[in-house]
Amino acid sequence: MKSEERRAKSKNSRIIKPYAPNSSLSTLCVHAGSEPDPLTGAVMPPVYMTSTYAQQSPGVHKGYEYSRTQNPTRERLERALAALEGARHGLAFASGLAAEDAILRLLKPGDHVLCGRDLYGGTYRLMKRVWERYGLNFDFVDASNARNFVGALKTRTRMIWIESPSNPLLSVADFGLLTVLLKKRRSDLLVVVDNTFATPIFQQPLSLGADLVIHSTTKYIGGHSDVIGGAVMTNRDETAQGLRFLQNAAGAVPGPMDCFLTMRGIKTLALRMKAHETGAGKVARYLSEHYKVERVYYPGLNSHPGHENAGRQMTGFGGMVSFDIRGDGGTATEFFSALRLFTVGESLGGVESLACYPWIMTHAAIPEEERLRSGIKDTLIRLSVGIENPKDLINDLSLALEQV
Ligand SMILES: *Cc1c(COP(=O)(O)O)cnc(C)c1O
Repeated sequence: MKSEERRAKSKNSRIIKPYAPNSSLSTLCVHAGSEPDPLTGAVMPPVYMTSTYAQQSPGVHKGYEYSRTQNPTRERLERALAALEGARHGLAFASGLAAEDAILRLLKPGDHVLCGRDLYGGTYRLMKRVWERYGLNFDFVDASNARNFVGALKTRTRMIWIESPSNPLLSVADFGLLTVLLKKRRSDLLVVVDNTFATPIFQQPLSLGADLVIHSTTKYIGGHSDVIGGAVMTNRDETAQGLRFLQNAAGAVPGPMDCFLTMRGIKTLALRMKAHETGAGKVARYLSEHYKVERVYYPGLNSHPGHENAGRQMTGFGGMVSFDIRGDGGTATEFFSALRLFTVGESLGGVESLACYPWIMTHAAIPEEERLRSGIKDTLIRLSVGIENPKDLINDLSLALEQV
C-alpha cells in the first residue's frame, strides 16, 4: 500500500481508544490523559512547546489562545490527575506551593484558616509570612483528634487544612469523623487535604469528605526527582472555576515539558507506591527494634497512634518513615554523615532513598518553639524509602547506627 493510500485509509479508522472510565487505579495511571495523539497516533503525549496559537481571524481559533491560559500537554496532565483522585476537575501548577497559594487566594482578608499543626514547613511559611500580611488568619491544632478542629472554629473560619499522613511526623487524621463533625456545624467550610504523602494510590480524600485535594507532584507523582510541580483536584464546580480563573490570572502554571515528565512518572505510580511501601514497612520494623532508636513514626506499625484510622481510610501506609535517634542533635548529625546509600537531601518520593533532617532542612522555616510544640526535635530523622532492595537500605542504616 502506498503511503498516501495508507493515510487516506487510516483517516476513517478510529485511532483514539479512550480508557474505560471505571478502570482500576493502576490502569488509570497508564492510560488517563495518555490517549494516543489524534493527529499522528503517537502513543506518548505530544509536548506542545508553544506560547501562542494561530487564529483564523481575531477570536476564531481551536480553543487555544495562549499557553498560560490553555496548553494541550497541561490539559492531559490535568485529566490524568483528576482521574486518579476520582475528581471532576484537576488543575496543574508550577509547584506544590503555587497550588496552595492559588487555594489561599480564594479567601478574603479577615478569613480564618484552621490547620493541622504538623505541616510541611513551606506551607507554614506561605501562610504565616505571606498570607497573614494580607489579612488571612491561621490557627494550628493537633489534627490527630478531630474534636480539636470543632473546638477551635471561629465565625470567620472558611477553610480547614490538613496533611495526613503529615510531614514529618506521619500523624493521621480521622477524615470520616472530621468531616461529619465539621459539616454538621458549617456546610460552607472547605476542607483541604494535602495528599502528597499517601498519593491517590493509597488514599482518596475526596471520597472521604474533603472538598479539595492538593499535591506536590514534585514528590511521588513525578517520582523521579526531576521535576517541580503541584496540583489541585476537586468535585466542586464553582471552586474549580475560581481556581481556573486564578491559574490564568496569577499565572503559576507548569511548562509543557514539566507536564510531560510528570505524566511519565504517573505511569508507574501504582507500581512504585507498592515498592515504597514494602521497603518502608521493613525499614520501620527494623528501626523499631534497634536500641539506638528512641521512637519510630510509621502508620503501618501497630504502635502508631493513627494505625487504626490509617487502616480504615488508606489502602497502604506509604513510603515515609521518621524516627528519633537516641542521643542529641550531635548524634543525628553523625548519623547523617555515616549514611552511604541514603542521600542526605530535601524532598521525598523519588525512586532513590533520601534522608532529611527536618530540624534544619524542610522545617527550619517554622519557629523553634512551634517546632518543639509539634514534636519536631533535633533528634528527628525523616526517611523517604526508595525502591532499592530493602536489604541494602537496612544494611546502610545498620552501619550508620553502628557508627554513632
Ligand atoms: C514538598 C511539599 C509541598 C510543597 O511542594 P513544592 O512542589 O515543593 O512546592 C507541600 N506539601 C508537602 C506535604 C510537601 O512534601
